[in-house]
Amino acid sequence: MTITRVKNYINGEWVDSTSTTIGDVWCPATGEKIASVAYSTKEDVDAAVKAAKEAFWEWRSTPPLSRARYLFRLKDAFEENFEDIARTLTREQGKAIDEARGEVRRMIENVEHATGVTTLMTGYTLEDIAKGIDCYGHRQPLGVFAAIVPYNFPAMVAWWFLPYAIVTGNTFIVKPSEQVPMTQTKIFEIVDEIGLPEGVVNMVHGSRDVVNALLDHPDIEGISFVGSTPTARYIYQRCGETGKRVQSLGGAKNIVAIMPDAKLDEAMPSLITSFFGCSGQRCLSGSVLVPVGDIADELLEKFTAAAKAMKVGDGLDEQTAMGPVVSAAHRDRVLGYIEKGIAEGAELILDGRNFTVPELPNGFFVGPTIFDRVTPNMTIAREEIFGPVVSTVRAGSLDDVIDLINTRGFANAACIYTQNGGVVREFKYRVKPSMVGVNIGIAAPMSFFPFGGAGNSMFGDIKGHGQEIFQFFTDTKVVIERWF
Ligand code: NAD
Repeated sequence: MTITRVKNYINGEWVDSTSTTIGDVWCPATGEKIASVAYSTKEDVDAAVKAAKEAFWEWRSTPPLSRARYLFRLKDAFEENFEDIARTLTREQGKAIDEARGEVRRMIENVEHATGVTTLMTGYTLEDIAKGIDCYGHRQPLGVFAAIVPYNFPAMVAWWFLPYAIVTGNTFIVKPSEQVPMTQTKIFEIVDEIGLPEGVVNMVHGSRDVVNALLDHPDIEGISFVGSTPTARYIYQRCGETGKRVQSLGGAKNIVAIMPDAKLDEAMPSLITSFFGCSGQRCLSGSVLVPVGDIADELLEKFTAAAKAMKVGDGLDEQTAMGPVVSAAHRDRVLGYIEKGIAEGAELILDGRNFTVPELPNGFFVGPTIFDRVTPNMTIAREEIFGPVVSTVRAGSLDDVIDLINTRGFANAACIYTQNGGVVREFKYRVKPSMVGVNIGIAAPMSFFPFGGAGNSMFGDIKGHGQEIFQFFTDTKVVIERWF
């Protein structure tokens, strides 16, 4: 098999990086190398920023509705290539094909939402702020923005930002994860077809050097970051030093509470997807399962049976419910957490170590894993594992649950299963995480609501997509006006 090297997309052209540092891209299901990626340099970033800067003035003076028309074209082109994008995604990331389709659907929804620019970008005005004087605020684009994105959603996450940035008149650079560069490359091949002016969107592959060059570049106005908490914190601090706008979304440790009155049979499919979908590699994945009171034994019996019944294998197989994790290194990291859970005294009731898929002996698989009798201070109850590992912490009351949630540091999402409205009100009122699921295991806001957490799960104030993102990508210029 020939291994292709993904290219950068700068000023409407596909170009090779001059870098000699080359990374491998793997198919996590088969354990084979499927592509390579150059870790681009500061010079590559400079070229992309130059192109984006040169494209800015013409693009910002293109009427918003005309800019939106490119997005209508893009939506059609994405629909035509939908399955192709989803299959590329599964091949390099590993997730089940139906999940990949869901991700591509969510990506497209951001394109759709951004087309509402002519109402969502409007400013506001007030006559007679003093006698004969009027005041109004226009929303104006700022220049060049960039997104730095993680490996777990190779298609969607860049599109939490890109459509809104360009429809408001900015120009843009995407830095995909070096672990999964093929999906965004496929997406940019489609972008290339719709005839956007050169330089409006650009893509530079690579790793830390690209990130640092973006963070330090004086012509970049703002950064949208999504990834792990240590990197998110670093990005936020560095943007503070260099004076850039920043929205920096980090990791998670999401708690799913099961109250004694929960409808377990109805809940089970969504609980299984929450903890094991994408092999636990979602920032909204359930990680800590918290049965309250005497429902614990029945819950664990049903949950363990459902986990065992899942088909684990190649994501491209339509029957697969859970694929591999992204890399051999990440598999070893997840296995390390399982060992730590055992060493710290948790009870392993479903063991995903030594898990093999016979027809895929070299795949990066970890089987579904469930711990019971985890205590709040154990490592597996505190740190983000980002794998198919469930830590069950038994709780006595709703107060215990809320206390557990609000002492994790991470505050991305929290879910509760119950039939009691009063309990739900108390829960959603008091928990710190910003995304709450009620009888929902993955509390994922759609493109027209903001996506992002609080605490150590998000640095900055304006989240991904939603209506607020139009503020992130614009400056309100206020004009105070009178005529003699
Ligand atoms: P990561 O932090 O390792 O990498 C994210 C991006 O930052 C990549 O593009 C990578 O090249 C770059 N990067 C990594 N280390 C860097 C460094 N030291 N300096 C500069 N750049 C660096 O994250 P990941 O492993 O790709 O993704 C998984 C993480 O992302 C998990 O923690 C997950 O919870 C989080 N995530 C969060 C959300 C959210 O909405 N909050 C969504 C998806 C993923």
